[in-house]
Amino acid sequence: MIKNIVILTGAGISAESGIPVFRSETGLWENHRIEDVCVPSALERDPATVENFYNTMRRNLHNVEPNPAHFAVARLQKEWKKGSVTLVTQNIDNLHERAGSENLYHMHGSLTEIYCPRCGTVFPCDRDVAPREDCPHCGAKGTVRPHIVFFEEIPYHMEEIEEALWSADLFLAVGTSGVVYPAAGFARIAASRGAVNVEFNLSASEQAGYFRKSVYGKAGTTLPKFVDSLLKDGDSFIESLPARS
Ligand code: NAD
Repeated sequence: MIKNIVILTGAGISAESGIPVFRSETGLWENHRIEDVCVPSALERDPATVENFYNTMRRNLHNVEPNPAHFAVARLQKEWKKGSVTLVTQNIDNLHERAGSENLYHMHGSLTEIYCPRCGTVFPCDRDVAPREDCPHCGAKGTVRPHIVFFEEIPYHMEEIEEALWSADLFLAVGTSGVVYPAAGFARIAASRGAVNVEFNLSASEQAGYFRKSVYGKAGTTLPKFVDSLLKDGDSFIESLPARS
């Protein structure tokens, strides 16, 4: 019987809102090479380029809106009464919060926060950030940086996420290519615990072998329908889904 649900979302859920996905085949993110904007050494070497990259994306949040897939996730979280619904997102945008999701882990950080690694203080942020700002809390010189997990760094909330995965009866992965670890390994963990895994994507992801069922198509169309049926018919709806094709 399905009680606890874990939903993992990736860049694909925000694609229909107009936020481009990460191009793993070219290694480009918003036309930038990962090694220029998303590794710790880039921040040391060229903080202006790194801050500008995140400033531009942060500003762009004002031009985008949550789409029906974000609202479907929030609805499932509010209306599912048989257990918990834990949302884990790899996205750094704020569209899940704006759609009404509350129980949410931003495992790769958030564009709307900055932090000081010296004292660990996290600050809400809705403005452009200059390179190497001083920390307003501890006064350390030039330490403030985006609250974003760079490649080579450890994602946030891993303990809570693994705990949720171990008690998951249903694991949904929405709009994620399954190439960025550790998130790419979550389907395997959930499957080993006996969860029913369902993938929502345009086509089979790198981790497709770990999904018992799949729903291919745009998440803004497929996810609201899925959530409607899950809330209405529960386990029998999940059983009725065709096996992964
Ligand atoms: P990804 O970009 O590697 O893959 C996106 C996946 O979504 C692809 O498999 C694609 O087929 C699928 N997809 C595209 N449009 C879709 C739609 N309408 N419906 C359903 N699926 C769709 O994304 P990832 O796996 O999240 O990894 C990328 C990394 O880059 C993450 O670590 C993330 O932090 C970062 N990123 C974040 C954002 C954001 O915050 N919105 C955007 C780009 C990249």
